[in-house]
Amino acid sequence: MFLSYEAFRAAADAISKAIVEACIEAGRRPGEVQLLPVTKTQPAAAADYVARYGLPAVGENRVQEAIEKRAQTQASVRWELIGHLQSNKARIAAQQFDRIQSVDRAKLLDPLDRAAAELGKTLPVLLQVNAGRDPAKFGAELEDAPQLLEQALGRPHLRVEGLMTIAPLSSDPEVARRTFAALRTLRDELAARFGVPLSELSMGMTSDFRVAIAEGSTTVRVGTALFGARAALGQ
Ligand SMILES: *Cc1c(COP(=O)(O)O)cnc(C)c1O
Repeated sequence: MFLSYEAFRAAADAISKAIVEACIEAGRRPGEVQLLPVTKTQPAAAADYVARYGLPAVGENRVQEAIEKRAQTQASVRWELIGHLQSNKARIAAQQFDRIQSVDRAKLLDPLDRAAAELGKTLPVLLQVNAGRDPAKFGAELEDAPQLLEQALGRPHLRVEGLMTIAPLSSDPEVARRTFAALRTLRDELAARFGVPLSELSMGMTSDFRVAIAEGSTTVRVGTALFGARAALGQ
């Protein structure tokens, strides 16, 4: 059975508090870090909970799953894609999502830009970078990020708001820390070189959001700590 709203609220309160504490510890203003609840594999009611709690957006990692859920809820939240996007789904993703965090290769740029143009919108995107050099993760290689950014900046209907990464799975918190520090350093270099703010750093999940905040995260994507464990399929 899906958790009750009260259970969700208690979890969201706890995570919100932990985010504030991590900000203070890092000498940052708590308002600088957004909590993005990750609703993948959860029922559409998860989006209702998020809206009722007053958070502005949810993260989903599959296009089709998000479409099905959006059809089942009136929740006034923004929907963000945080999972790998196949090129043949770029068009529908541009239509269905309010932001795409997982733009990881140049091949996606044209279909996304074209779809956004046809929809008469500017699509906010983040570039996903494999900052931890994890063979099991998607994301542009660190070396390829400048070219990907340059190409993305040339697409008039895409707005590059920043970078996203997923740290390698590891029991050593230093692995995540190094990954997040690498993404922030890359962001600083790219922002200076291309003269764009790239103010969003989407990094940190249930197991590593505190470290991510210490390293400059502006959006933490949290699923398990809010909704409980997922069935293996959705991991
Ligand atoms: C599932 C997922 C999350 C949330 O992970 P938790 O460990 O459940 O907090 C965050 N980011 C991405 C890209 C995900 O796929």
